[in-house]
Amino acid sequence: MNEQTPKKPNVTLAKYFGAVLIFMLVFNFILMPILQQRRVQEASYSHFLDALDKGIVKVVQLQTSEINYITEEDEIARVYKTGIIDDPTLVPTLREKGVQFGAVIPSKPNPLLSFLLSWILPIGMFALIGYFLRRNMMKQIGNMPGMTFGSKKTAKVYVADESSITFDDVAGQDEAKESLVEIIDYLENPLKYKEIGAKCPKGVLLVGPPGTGKTLIAKAVAGEANVPFFSIAGSEFVEMFVGRGAARVRELFEQAGKNAPCIVFIDEIDTIGKSRDGSLSTNDEREQTLNQLLTEMDGFGANKGVIILAATNRPEVLDPALLRPGRFDRQVPMELPDLQGRIDILKVHAKKVKLEGEIDFHLLARSTSGASGAQLANIINEGALRAVRMGRRAVTQGDLEEAIETVIAGQQKKNAIMSDEEKRVVAYHEIGHALVAAMQTHSAPVQKITIIPRTSGALGYTMQVEEQDKYLVSRTEAENRLATIAGGRAAEEIVFNEITTGAANDIEQMTQLARSMVTKYGMSDEFGMMGLSSGGNRYLGGGETMDCSPVTAQKVDEEVRRIIQEAQEKARSILKENEDVLHKLAAYLKETETITGEEFMKILES
Ligand code: ADP
Ligand code: MG
Ligand code: ZN
Repeated sequence: MNEQTPKKPNVTLAKYFGAVLIFMLVFNFILMPILQQRRVQEASYSHFLDALDKGIVKVVQLQTSEINYITEEDEIARVYKTGIIDDPTLVPTLREKGVQFGAVIPSKPNPLLSFLLSWILPIGMFALIGYFLRRNMMKQIGNMPGMTFGSKKTAKVYVADESSITFDDVAGQDEAKESLVEIIDYLENPLKYKEIGAKCPKGVLLVGPPGTGKTLIAKAVAGEANVPFFSIAGSEFVEMFVGRGAARVRELFEQAGKNAPCIVFIDEIDTIGKSRDGSLSTNDEREQTLNQLLTEMDGFGANKGVIILAATNRPEVLDPALLRPGRFDRQVPMELPDLQGRIDILKVHAKKVKLEGEIDFHLLARSTSGASGAQLANIINEGALRAVRMGRRAVTQGDLEEAIETVIAGQQKKNAIMSDEEKRVVAYHEIGHALVAAMQTHSAPVQKITIIPRTSGALGYTMQVEEQDKYLVSRTEAENRLATIAGGRAAEEIVFNEITTGAANDIEQMTQLARSMVTKYGMSDEFGMMGLSSGGNRYLGGGETMDCSPVTAQKVDEEVRRIIQEAQEKARSILKENEDVLHKLAAYLKETETITGEEFMKILES
């Protein structure tokens, strides 16, 4: 929104009430009298006498030169007027007929009707117009939540009540739930933590692809802890009037402080928290807002009972300042659901619709590999819509299967859903890594393996030991690790006789490790303890520089290639020796999409 568009809502409000007032005045004191003025119609004296005879004359007004009268038939619409005739019998006749006569004709023939017309109708009309105006304005203002007329409310207040969302509404996501349980416990018993002197994490960042339930789980935390929930989306700050973003943040936290213990939820935080030094164009507005947010977060003592949750699907663009200790110091990954996760999510949403006959959730989940929670919720809804279209009163398995086609068809173009063949390749690739690792160390892969794409961008299985996790890595360990990394591509080669791009990250890792072994760790027979490179300071963004002659550099390259080739050979031979179990494990992983270390060992030893 730019500077010209925004109208201050308070000014508009005053204008609005002014307009109502003026209209009411004009309506009641000018329009109504005109409307209510009866048409005056000239009539003959005989018409007057006839009407008198029929007994339909209601009111007569005698004036000096004319007679005005109203008949029952035309009571509201007109007044008749006729010339005066010297008629001495007139007054007695009027009395005889019981006609009301005198000088004044009552101007309001029907008090109820007139009241309705002059007050109730316009008020009703204005209420209606006002309602639509307001709705429109709310949209124009950029959907600021809680931006009500005249009030200074900043964030939506989500007061936990009976109907509020709990963890039961969030299917799967067990790891996320686990790490949020502590937050809930803190909100419920802050004293327990205070006594010991433990500080609860001030900010928790929910990270994951769209539709994985980040917003949902944030609400569930509030529901579980039974505390107020203040939420605002990052985009709302940015679209707001110039100079308002920072003020909004201040108001939001002010309000939260008054309502502690409570949860402040900043959805889509990447819109304000984008890294500042990364882009060329600076956005002062956003920067001010971000600075205000950082200030507020620092200002909140850990024991104030305000927990800040935020969600993003682009953690990599966040300003590092946001992730510093005391700010969003805990990250909770929200991943796409695996087979069991999808079954659970489908069941949660299926409870909301009427079902008919046997529903095979397992089958539905199997054909939606890679779908997000939001997409699964959408599938159930599409199924229900289809049932309605078909004139049925409940949702059948067929409806849901059709719904998958509709929902997934749209997604498949975007490559969000993995094809069956892709799943097979990824399953073999991941098992390849894990099997090589297990056969070398004779121990279970520590982490679970999954073929659902992870937020990190890496394929499910991450190496068990990262360089920085361990102080000392032996040469054997380094070589084992190289073989493990090579295992993914090796499995593809053995099974499909074809290789894919899926190993790009592996290749990068392998090369880096093998090169370090030669140039830094003195782990090659060729060079021994000769330091060949220096630098590689990632904070300065510079790469490593070779400290050797071009001839040596060439030899280094050859040595690196030899180490990598050896690792590849080793991986291939391990997998060939264990081809049976490779097929068994891969088939299992493809089916369930996730395999724990325990399950892995069971199949391996069977
Ligand atoms: P995000 O904020 O991660 O983009 P949302 O929380 O907005 O995702 O999820 C959108 C909808 O998808 C939710 O309202 C819910 O209906 C459904 N959904 C997503 N994940 C889950 C889940 N794990 N369990 C149940 N429903 C889910
Ligand atoms: Mg969301
Ligand atoms: Zn790999």
